[in-house]
Amino acid sequence: MNFMETKIRKIDKNQIDEKIIEEAGALLREGKLVAFPTETVYGLGADALQEEAARKTYEAKGRPSDNPLIVHIADYEDLKKIAVNIPPETDMLAAHFWPGPLTMIFEKSDVVPYGTTGGLDTVAVRMPVDPVAQALIRAAGGFVSAPSANTSGRPSPTTAQHVEEDLSGKIDMILDGGTVDIGLESTILDMTVSPPMILRPGAITAEMFEKVIGPVDVDKTLLSEDSTQAPKAPGMKYRHYAPKAKLIIVEGDLREEILAIRQIAYEADRKGQPIGIIATSETVPFYNHGIVKNIGTRENEKTIARNLYSVLREFDDENVDTIYSESFAVQGIGTAIMNRLEKAAGHLRIPASEIVKLQKYRKVTFVSGTDSARGPMAAELLRHCDLKQEYVINSRGIVVLFPEPANQKAEAIMKSAQMTLADHSSLQFDGEDIQEDTLVLTIDESQKEKILSEYGEQDNVFTLNEFIGDDTEIPDPYGKPLTAYGECLEVLDKLIKKLADKLNSLMEEEK
Ligand code: AMP
Ligand code: MG
Repeated sequence: MNFMETKIRKIDKNQIDEKIIEEAGALLREGKLVAFPTETVYGLGADALQEEAARKTYEAKGRPSDNPLIVHIADYEDLKKIAVNIPPETDMLAAHFWPGPLTMIFEKSDVVPYGTTGGLDTVAVRMPVDPVAQALIRAAGGFVSAPSANTSGRPSPTTAQHVEEDLSGKIDMILDGGTVDIGLESTILDMTVSPPMILRPGAITAEMFEKVIGPVDVDKTLLSEDSTQAPKAPGMKYRHYAPKAKLIIVEGDLREEILAIRQIAYEADRKGQPIGIIATSETVPFYNHGIVKNIGTRENEKTIARNLYSVLREFDDENVDTIYSESFAVQGIGTAIMNRLEKAAGHLRIPASEIVKLQKYRKVTFVSGTDSARGPMAAELLRHCDLKQEYVINSRGIVVLFPEPANQKAEAIMKSAQMTLADHSSLQFDGEDIQEDTLVLTIDESQKEKILSEYGEQDNVFTLNEFIGDDTEIPDPYGKPLTAYGECLEVLDKLIKKLADKLNSLMEEEK
C-alpha cells in the first residue's frame, strides 16, 4: 500500500466549521477515506455506495473482507433507499433510539454494493447523533460506511490520536473532534428475524428494547467461550479490541478478585516481571504491586465503557506481558463492557477463588509479653524473608499499657544486622487480632495460654515453636546485656527462616 499524507483537521462539534466539512465530504465523494468522531467510537468513513471505497477501507484497516461495514445515514428517509422489507417495529425503534448508538440490520437494496456488506444480502444501518458525523454524512451524499477507525484486531479508537496511531499514512483525513462520549461500539440489532435479535451488546440494552417493542432475542454465542459456535455478526468472531499483552479476566466476587490479583501481582513482582492491572476507582488503593490503571468508577459504569479502549491501548506503552482485569456485572452497559473485555482477552479467564483458596492465612501476628523486643524482632525478621505470599505482619503484646518504641538494645542488635525497629510502637493484643485469616504466633507458652483463656479455643493460635515443629527455646534477654539480645536474635533468625519455609510450603500443599 502506498503511503499517503493524512490531513488532520480539528473540529468543534458545538461550532462546526463548514469549510472543513466541505473538504472532508468532497474527499468521501471522490472515494477517499476520512476518519471522523461519532458518539460511540471513531469511524473510518467511505462512500457506502462505491464498491472501490469499501475495498480501500478493508485494506487500510487490514480487515478481513467478509466482515461487513455499517452504513451511516443522517436522515431517516434515507433508510428506504438502502434497505427493503423494513419491518414495522423499525419506526418505533428509530423514534426512540435514532439518532444514537443503535445499528439495525435489514435486507439490502440493489444500490448497496456487496463490497460494503461483505457479500451479504443484508445491510447494517446506523444514524449517529454526533453533529460532526451528521454534517459529514450529508456532505458526502448521505451514505457513509464506517467501521471503527483502528487497525483490525486492536482496541477501537476513542480519540483522534488513537486513529493516528493506527491509520496515519493510510487514509486521507482525520477529523479530530476530541474524546468520544460512549466509548463502545453500537448495539447491533438484527431486524430480519422476529423477534429482532441482538448480535452485539452496546449502550442500548435488551431491557431498553423490551420497553419499546417487547422482548428481543440475544445471540447466544455472545458471552459464551464456546468458539465452535459462529456468532451471527461476522465481525464478532475475530479476536478483537486486543492489547499487545495477554489479557486475563479474574472472576469472582469483588473481594476475592482483589485478593487474587494482589497475590498474582505480588508473585510477578517477586520474579521481576510486573503485571498490568485493570482496576476501578474503588479498588485502586488495594493494589501495591504491578502497573495499575483506573478504568472508571463502579458507581457509574458509563465511565468504565468510556475508558476501556484507551486503557487497553495505554498498556501497549508499558512493559508488561500480562494484564489482569477485575470483572463487571453483566447488566445494563456492563453487558457490553464484559463482551468487549472477553473478546480482548480472547476469553482467557481465571476464577479468583482458585487463587484465594491457596491463602490459608493473610496476616501473621507475633505475640510477646510487652511487644517491645522479641515480638517486633520476629516480625521484622519475617518481613525480610522471601515469601510466596504477601502477608500483613504485625506484633502485639499481652500487657501493653501505652504505646512505646522498641527496647533500645533490641533496636541496636537489629541495626547491627541491617534491620530496624525504628517504626515500631507497641500495641496491646485484642479480639480484633484473632480473625480467621490471621496466624497468631506466641513467643512463649504463657502468652498462648492467656489468649486461649480469654478468647476460648482457637485453631489459629500457636506458639512459634509448636507451629514450626522446633523446640529451640527463645531466650528472654530482658534486663540482660546486649550479648543476650544477640543470642536471642540468632535463635529467632533460625526459627523465622523455618517459619518462612513452612508458610511457603502451605501454599504448595493447597495446590
Ligand atoms: P465495526 O464497524 O468495526 O463496529 O464492525 C461492524 C460490525 O457490524 C461487525 O461486527 C459486523 O460483522 C457487523 N455487521 C455489519 N453488517 C452486518 C450484517 N449485514 N449482518 C450481520 N452483522 C453485520
Ligand atoms: Mg471494529
